[in-house]
Amino acid sequence: MKYLSCKIGGVTIGHGYPVAVQSMCNTDTLDIDASVAQCRALHAAGCEIIRLTTQGLRQVEALAQIKARLREEGIATPLVADIHFNADAALAAAKVAEKVRINPGNFSKDFEVAKAKFAELTRVCRETGCAIRIGLNHGSLGERITSAYGNTPLGMARAAMEWLQMAVKLDFTNITVSLKSSNTKVMADAYRLLYKLMAEELGMVFPMHVGVTEAGAGDTGRIKSVVGIGTLLREGIGDTIRVSLTEDPVNEVPVAQALRSLASSAAPDPSCTSFSIDAADHYDFIIQASFMAGPALLDGRIDDFTMHATVAGRELTKDEIDAFKDDLMQSCRRRFTKPEYIACPGCGRTLYDIQSLLKKIMEATKQFAGVKIAVMGCIVNGPGEMADADYGYVGEGGGKVTLYKGGEPVLRGIPQEEGVEKLVSLINGTL
Ligand code: SF4
Repeated sequence: MKYLSCKIGGVTIGHGYPVAVQSMCNTDTLDIDASVAQCRALHAAGCEIIRLTTQGLRQVEALAQIKARLREEGIATPLVADIHFNADAALAAAKVAEKVRINPGNFSKDFEVAKAKFAELTRVCRETGCAIRIGLNHGSLGERITSAYGNTPLGMARAAMEWLQMAVKLDFTNITVSLKSSNTKVMADAYRLLYKLMAEELGMVFPMHVGVTEAGAGDTGRIKSVVGIGTLLREGIGDTIRVSLTEDPVNEVPVAQALRSLASSAAPDPSCTSFSIDAADHYDFIIQASFMAGPALLDGRIDDFTMHATVAGRELTKDEIDAFKDDLMQSCRRRFTKPEYIACPGCGRTLYDIQSLLKKIMEATKQFAGVKIAVMGCIVNGPGEMADADYGYVGEGGGKVTLYKGGEPVLRGIPQEEGVEKLVSLINGTL
């Protein structure tokens, strides 16, 4: 078996290299000062790779300025241009960034055109030393794949394999690959399947960027991320990780660092059902407890567990442990007692204050147990990426939002001030 590595500026990831922690700015990339300040803060927090929204050529120019400013300050953290759709922006960014993140299937609806653009990008990347991340998300697979495999983990893995096979033929392997979903089970299964397919059909394993997308915020955002990423890290899958939170991106870094450190320590017995945790603070408890019990719950090896925990020396009550357990069970797709929130972390494309809106929506909809509610920052990627949400609240720009039901837009152009109330009425069936 050949284990490939991926060189992203001064950071190399892959088999035998440390797992790299990464995050993504949620600033408008055209706002150079704000973006530099956020990169600086991420760097100070220990973030080793930083991604910025780079949807067009203007953002590529801004990225060049951001990079120059950071390098002047002695900050050498590799920068990743987050592209998604625009092949011209990807080609230009490959001359600026240390890595470009693309979903090559989005380059064109015509597969042959998308293939040609991908080949051109690999040529430029070979010249400039830029790495490529092939980033496919659950819910953004093209019709060609979904008609053959469904919108499934296998579909995600097969879609990634097509591009990896092409890359191997093109003799370009400075690549990392990701298959994210907000559903921890789907995401873990997709990465496992891809690992197996790479080993069996390519005879080589590309480094993997692992994360749970649209995990949300607070306790549940952390629990979902720890369950999904932690399960894979324990199995040796994952070379760079991103904990995706609808919060200040700086908050993502300590969670990822804690996960990396837990994964490098001895794993508990997989069928263990009794845990004892001594945590420094609340989030330390959330992370440790999710890492201990989450993987076995996710894979159905255990159905329940008991836990004794202290936080900063105080013993947690049974009610506190039970409240955590409810969140963990739901994050592991085992028992649904609350609404399920699928919230994007926000990025340079975000069209409203998603962090405060998510809090408002969670408060207004907490009675809808079992209902999947997506809160997405932009109309370009949001609808595709909210996958199987029952309802969606998506920013349109200009102070307007669109509400979705069953994946279809049902109310467009609603003033943002009326959005939460209308969402509740839509879920209630009183609209
Ligand atoms: S849905 Fe849009 S705003 Fe949210 S993270 Fe994805 S691209 Fe950014």
